[in-house]
Amino acid sequence: MVLENIMLIDGSGRGPCAASICCADGVVKKIERKTGAAIAESGIIAVPGFVDVHVHFRDPGFTEKEDIASGSEAAAAGGFTTVCCMPNTNPALHSPEILADIDRRARETGRVNLFALSAMTVGQAGRELANFAAMDRTPTLCRELTGHGICGITEDGKSLLNEDMMRQVLIAAKRLGLVVMDHAEPETEITERDIRLARETGAHIHIQHVSAAATVDLVRAAKKTMPNITCETAPHYFTLTSEALDRLGPLAKMNPPLRTERDREAIREGLADGTIDVIATDHAPHTLAEKSRPVDEAPFGIIGLETCFALAYTHLVKTGVLTLPQLIEKMSAAPARLIGLDRGIITEGKAADITLIDTAYEGVIDSSAFRSKGRNTPFDGMPVSGRVIKTLRAGAATFEVKENA
Ligand SMILES: [Zn+2]
Repeated sequence: MVLENIMLIDGSGRGPCAASICCADGVVKKIERKTGAAIAESGIIAVPGFVDVHVHFRDPGFTEKEDIASGSEAAAAGGFTTVCCMPNTNPALHSPEILADIDRRARETGRVNLFALSAMTVGQAGRELANFAAMDRTPTLCRELTGHGICGITEDGKSLLNEDMMRQVLIAAKRLGLVVMDHAEPETEITERDIRLARETGAHIHIQHVSAAATVDLVRAAKKTMPNITCETAPHYFTLTSEALDRLGPLAKMNPPLRTERDREAIREGLADGTIDVIATDHAPHTLAEKSRPVDEAPFGIIGLETCFALAYTHLVKTGVLTLPQLIEKMSAAPARLIGLDRGIITEGKAADITLIDTAYEGVIDSSAFRSKGRNTPFDGMPVSGRVIKTLRAGAATFEVKENA
């Protein structure tokens, strides 16, 4: 397969250039760069397949909201070639048996590299540590591609409030070489505690869904001396404020909540200065019935896989917060690095995980066209620039936009 005379952002940090990319056997065989060639008018650019380190596919246990097949389709439609599933399923992901079952079904679906994180504690009950070592040895796709059966440890959905137990998790993670993804709640207090514990144990802590200016400040200060602190934010925190909750109710209800204009500005500054390493979606589908309840009874979370690139391109690149190569780095190479995955750069000899984006596209977000079972988005009808038009996983098309869709 050849992508002929296409613009390329290869993910290595260099700017766009015209190129032809030849792929075979799932691998990039040859890249021919056309030096001096004019930037194509079409706006179609090949970028490394996106990696989302924070999704909820609700499988097993809540498959009326999403399942591995529908979540994988949504990921491919969003330009993602790898996703990391959170363990707050039913049962929670806390054993090699549950992990192996998810891995087997994800491989059958075959739309995306689906990795999973272990819960910190059995049943996310906060009492007994899960057997991380056994899961790390489980022969999953994640293990084939990263050397680890799981791509991290997290109690996502809640914080592990018992400090001594959190310390034990960090010591175990450090020993196994796994990242701990940290749902910090209350955000600033737990971030402060866990930066201290990361300093003490040397474990790598990745703060999930940073939403508050004070958290950005804490991470920025910590990073001056600690290479083992990273963090992510999600598109809703750089696009919306609590005003959306007043307007849209449950469709704008998530955890952590939308905050003030000052917080949104701080998230943008954190992205621009490198404090925030990764953009993740926290894709959190719920049924329409659940999201139709009164706002104080509706569940937390919004979907994000199929809106992420367009929102980020519109609100970060078009506004000058990030360059397009910088955005691609935060959606591909940086999250790949975080989980030890050798992807995120289009280069000869590496897997042909490639997403084609159309930066000239202007349209509105249409949730009725989503592959996800979820429709819980505050962005329906919102004008955006840019879209994903094709996704290749190891050279095979996993998504292609329908003409004029
Ligand atoms: Zn989450």
